[in-house]
Amino acid sequence: MKQILLNPGPVTLSQRVRDALQGQDLCHREIEFSNLQRKIRQKILAAYALDNKTWASILLTGSGTAAVEAMLVSCVPPSGKILIVENGVYGERMTKIAIAHNIDHEKLSTGWDQVISLKKLDKALDGSRYSHVAIVHHETTTGRLNDIAAISEVCRKHGARVLMDGVSSFGGESIDFEKWELDACAATANKCLHGVPGTAFVVARRVLFQTTHPAKSVYLDLAQYLVKQDLGETPFTQSVQCFYAFDEAMNEFLEEGGWQARHQLFSSRMSKVQKKLLSFGIKPLIELSESSCVLNTFQLPLGKVYQHLHDELKSLGFIIYAGQGHFSTKVFRLSLMGAISENDMNRLLEALTKTLR
Ligand SMILES: *Cc1c(COP(=O)(O)O)cnc(C)c1O
Repeated sequence: MKQILLNPGPVTLSQRVRDALQGQDLCHREIEFSNLQRKIRQKILAAYALDNKTWASILLTGSGTAAVEAMLVSCVPPSGKILIVENGVYGERMTKIAIAHNIDHEKLSTGWDQVISLKKLDKALDGSRYSHVAIVHHETTTGRLNDIAAISEVCRKHGARVLMDGVSSFGGESIDFEKWELDACAATANKCLHGVPGTAFVVARRVLFQTTHPAKSVYLDLAQYLVKQDLGETPFTQSVQCFYAFDEAMNEFLEEGGWQARHQLFSSRMSKVQKKLLSFGIKPLIELSESSCVLNTFQLPLGKVYQHLHDELKSLGFIIYAGQGHFSTKVFRLSLMGAISENDMNRLLEALTKTLR
């Protein structure tokens, strides 16, 4: 049976993206690879209408975490200090990265189901001890879409630059790179952009790399990637087949109407699922007005064990996703990215009825 992935990446692939994996074998030192890489880099910037003079997209072989780690390692100078804002697993992961690389940092933690308090942020940044604030846009732990517009205003007031984990929002949510004055945003091919896992990227301001610092990582040094990629080269072997698939996924993404179209698509799918679940008394964990269109977390119905719900839905062809940490016995998560047809959606609604009745 065809399995539809309702986990927040990797996603169910379209036939067109899957077929692209069959592209010819390619040496990463040949002009064909260089052209492929250049096209993908342009399409990533086109996704948010970013100017190539100010912004660079930098391609990495790795999962989303590689991009987040590369961003933190490469965009904070040795004299810098980051305030890491946490309200879920992915914010906490950035703190782990800072610790692993000995990056000067403090954290501002909020409960996983809580809104980030602008007041607390303002207070924490007071005295301008921080050069940067690192924050997750869409906290996939809960589905909360953090209000980066408001948060970035507080950061600006204190002269702190924003580094954003946009791994599960890039391509599906509005990201105002200029207005939010982002320094960099880390993302991946295999979530809202519908590519295959294996390629991740960082969109960063070119100016960040105009002064050079000793690299804190060999593999994740964005400065080195940028120099090479601007020359049409790559410092290391890239996942060539994943690049083919990513290029095709970007064609599909741009043809379909970019992030706005995807936002609308994900939202309309999600509202159908919300309605169905609500008819069984199953409520979302956080306010819908504070949720992303990409993923929602729902309270498990009374007397229903996650594993049973998961297994029943799996037997009907749908893979749902567990909560993390202390949420694991209380909630389940549903993401509606990927190549999901009308028919798949109807089957999903039927499957939910069958398992929840
Ligand atoms: C998926 C995700 C990541 C990266 O996870 P990987 O397993 O490394 O791809 C990072 N941040 C957020 C918010 C995510 O949703």
